[in-house]
Amino acid sequence: MASSPEITRFAPSPTGPLHLGHAYAAMVAHDLARASGGRFLIRIEDIDRSRCRPEWEARIFEDLAWLGLSWDPPVWRQSERLASYEAALDRLWDQGLLYPCTCNRRDILAALDAPQEGVPMGPDGPVYPGTCRHKPRPKIRPTDRALRLDMAKALPASPLHFHEEGLSSLQGKHPITPKDLIENTGDIVLSRRDMGTSYHLSVVIDDAAQGITLVTRGADLFAATKIHVLLQHLLGLPTPRYHHHRLIRDEMGKRLAKRDDARALEIYRTEGLAPDAIRQHLTTGETLG
Ligand code: GLU
Repeated sequence: MASSPEITRFAPSPTGPLHLGHAYAAMVAHDLARASGGRFLIRIEDIDRSRCRPEWEARIFEDLAWLGLSWDPPVWRQSERLASYEAALDRLWDQGLLYPCTCNRRDILAALDAPQEGVPMGPDGPVYPGTCRHKPRPKIRPTDRALRLDMAKALPASPLHFHEEGLSSLQGKHPITPKDLIENTGDIVLSRRDMGTSYHLSVVIDDAAQGITLVTRGADLFAATKIHVLLQHLLGLPTPRYHHHRLIRDEMGKRLAKRDDARALEIYRTEGLAPDAIRQHLTTGETLG
């Protein structure tokens, strides 16, 4: 039976060259949309103004076009969407679910009183020990400090879940338990002091605003997805279906990261490799070059 048309997206941050891992993420989103007769969108996640560069953004489009991927307009930029994030923060603040935090990473590790290897790690690093949670809360939402979600207060009365359609080992309905959110996620930052928002908040608002039906992303973001489903619940937004895909790794088995410039698509491009060879390599593991 043909599936209904999906709306998917590729959401890169223009902070460096796209590598093979990005190419795979873009291909997965593109192919699922096209196979269903749906739409494939690009969203530039440029909230971290200190790290994003217009040159990188321009290269993203060149690389995607070279790979043979076509996308549907309009392209969204998160830097143009700050008012929507502010409105969501106001809503959560008014519900008493956020509190300001002045801790840096060193303060957090000191409060946890444990060597870094021994502390519980959440999707954004060490699970926050709650140092600032009980300080008096200002009347007006401050914009010069980080804002954390008070996880214990934010937990819903009935359990949440999401549907996974990607990796076969993960497929099915995933319940999100209060214990998991408290112990393995904790009070995450929803607005960073220097940005006025965060990845988690912006991605949830924009996926809903763009009507994304199927969120495709690497399996490394599986834990982050649980935060997103909670935020959708708190903000009255629909929960899309999810498709977490495998990660592209180097010869040592390490996940490719931005610093892996050696695998930047542009290098393959200038070496004269055909985009089809990249596709073959990513989908079948066939050797490159
Ligand atoms: N900008 C994020 C990244 O590149 C998007 C991932 C996602 O939410 O799917 O990792």
